[in-house]
Amino acid sequence: MEIERHEYDVVVIGAGGAGLRAAIEARQQGKRTAIVCKSLFGKAHTVMAEGGAAAAMGNVNSDDNWMVHFRDTMRGGKFLNNWRMAELHAKEAPDRVWELEAWGALFDRTKDGKISQRNFGGHEYPRLAHVGDRTGLELIRTLQQRVVALQQEDEKLHGDAEAYIKVFQECTVTRLLKDGDAISGAFGYWRENGKLILFDAPAIVLATGGIGKSYVVTSNSWEYTGDGHALALLAGANLINMEFIQFHPTGMVWPPSVRGILVTESVRGDGGVLRNSEGKRFMFDYIPDVFKDKYATSEEEGDRWYTDQANNRRPPELLPRDEVARAINSEVKAGRGSPQGGVYLDVSTRLPAAEIIKRLPSMHHQFKELADVDITKEAMQVGPTCHYIMGGVEVDADTGAAAVPGLFAAGEVSGGMHGSNRLGGNSLSDLLVFGRRAGMGAASYVDGLAARPKVSEESVAKASMEALAPLERSGENPYEVHHELQRTMNELVGIIRKSEEVSEALEAVEKLKERAQNVGAAGSRIYNPGWHLALDLRNMLLVSECVAKAALLREESRGGHTRDDFPAMSAEWRTKILRCALTPDGSGIAVEEQVQTAMRDDLITLFDRDELKKYITEEELAAFDALAK
Ligand code: FAD
Repeated sequence: MEIERHEYDVVVIGAGGAGLRAAIEARQQGKRTAIVCKSLFGKAHTVMAEGGAAAAMGNVNSDDNWMVHFRDTMRGGKFLNNWRMAELHAKEAPDRVWELEAWGALFDRTKDGKISQRNFGGHEYPRLAHVGDRTGLELIRTLQQRVVALQQEDEKLHGDAEAYIKVFQECTVTRLLKDGDAISGAFGYWRENGKLILFDAPAIVLATGGIGKSYVVTSNSWEYTGDGHALALLAGANLINMEFIQFHPTGMVWPPSVRGILVTESVRGDGGVLRNSEGKRFMFDYIPDVFKDKYATSEEEGDRWYTDQANNRRPPELLPRDEVARAINSEVKAGRGSPQGGVYLDVSTRLPAAEIIKRLPSMHHQFKELADVDITKEAMQVGPTCHYIMGGVEVDADTGAAAVPGLFAAGEVSGGMHGSNRLGGNSLSDLLVFGRRAGMGAASYVDGLAARPKVSEESVAKASMEALAPLERSGENPYEVHHELQRTMNELVGIIRKSEEVSEALEAVEKLKERAQNVGAAGSRIYNPGWHLALDLRNMLLVSECVAKAALLREESRGGHTRDDFPAMSAEWRTKILRCALTPDGSGIAVEEQVQTAMRDDLITLFDRDELKKYITEEELAAFDALAK
């Protein structure tokens, strides 16, 4: 069988912020690097990011610093975060934003010419470096420009622009290959013509983003089928925190064709308020105890905060996303929703029209074009949408290394950094911080190799057979299996979960796994979306099984995991991480409890005792008291 073959030192799968930043780093460390992406180069989720990148630069409020950002991130994640990742992220994010500026990014400015920073949910100070509401676009543009600059350098030095960094776009990776325990390459196909392709490489960086397409209502686009999560599992790596899924509180709810499309949190950061069908700003009724002292208890105080943050507390519309999403869900369930099943998000009565158009140009355009709603004149209807997965590949915080030698992961596909809930804006900075670290980790792994692992012809033959199998079957339509899976996950493992429903979902997933073995795709290998979906199904099913199994085990509510039957947050459960791996026979997922490593002394003492006691066990509190003495 004809297979196109390439040899690289590092192959980065994914060309969003994490993948590009990793590839730039690997190339800067002198490694021959390939960037492989399923969609067009430049069309990754990162490009859709609106609000900004969180970095404690202190440009708008000089009280901000890495320690405040670290505390906010840990609080947002309800203390389940990998604290080392949260520490590195808070310390390094400002440098990564300044580096972007040095590479040509044009951020919005403050009056005195510094990079402007905006407010976002869960961030104590204005912290999101942004470009209007199109920050992801500027981030991707800048990183792509940096790739081109490196290629121009290579053209001059080696007479070949692609000598050290080359992009393979519209190319899907379906399997990682191994030599013994170590990574030896990646296998995939060109989406356009269906031809097969093999990358022989000792180091792979996964940067494949999220899993949203396992749900019906999602802000994610077609690529986000959990490929990297599944590739890692199949290669023998572990996933952690898979029960934690972020349902963004504000997705569009109308018209049905656009249901789930994101309405940026910047709308609330810039003054937008949430109201129910009775016109009530209901978020004041939903401030949880752990946040009571940090949020305004009256509309007047909340409104004053926009202009005087030193003397007022923030409005509860800016609570972390999990809190706002649950509140909207409760209002709709209680019959106080909008006609199309959402609530109202209003900025029209809060800012002058010209200001709305200046600050939120994409939102203005999106609502006008898709829903015929002018957000300068009327309220938007919004509701929760599956947006982001906190869970992902278990990695070493400093290097991005997974449990399999030669495998690295960064960005949304990795797990740990955000704990049980990610703060808005912390993803773009995560991509830059950990993309760079994974690129460095992969490069130094390659440097340390005594011998290059070999790709076996047997593993290539197996991967080819697996990739072509759906074309050789005239079985069930993959779209039907996909719809069934999306419906199952949305209804039974969604924003509010119950033991019986999650168990029912797991039974359904088992049946869908059997059906997926028989899905067939009519037609040829030339641009055949049915075939592509048939291959993606394996990944979505593996990911869904992880999500449902971990959701069933975790008997508490925390961040992006709410159990109707266990509504409280439990200090005991905070000490545990759920880790998913493939069963030895490869037929499913096994989940085991891991003990969470205790936070380093100098980090835990950044918190007040009164706050810690809301989250940690008596035993941990005693250890903290002993430290404080
Ligand atoms: P992505 O940018 O998702 O890129 C993944 C890449 O992997 C793509 O190139 C894709 O083609 C490729 N890929 C996937 N599978 C394969 C495969 N099998 N083979 C080859 N290639 C593959 N976060 C913030 O911090 N601030 C915001 O303002 C913000 N706004 C957002 C708005 C929207 C609408 C969405 C959807 C998300 C937003 N987020 C925001 C979240 C953030 O954008 C994402 O979490 C982040 O961009 C993920 O980046 P990544 O580099 O991990 O992956």
